[in-house]
Amino acid sequence: MLECELLSQCGFFRKHEATLDLPCRGFVQAYCRGPRREACQRRAYLLLHGFSPPDDLLPNGQVVPMSYQAATE
Ligand code: SF4
Repeated sequence: MLECELLSQCGFFRKHEATLDLPCRGFVQAYCRGPRREACQRRAYLLLHGFSPPDDLLPNGQVVPMSYQAATE
């Protein structure tokens, strides 16, 4: 299985890996455990800045909607 090497230090993955929410589950399957990990904007951010972006930055570069953030806290 293809897996991102940053799984253990990624806030998005730790927060959403076990989610039942279909869109977030899709991101995990496509990026974190799938072929799109090289295109992940979180990964690019970490490599550029040397530290992780906020947990709610999605792999596609968008931010988790506030309504969903409130529901998962
Ligand atoms: S969100 Fe990106 S950086 Fe984080 S584990 Fe998934 S592919 Fe890796």
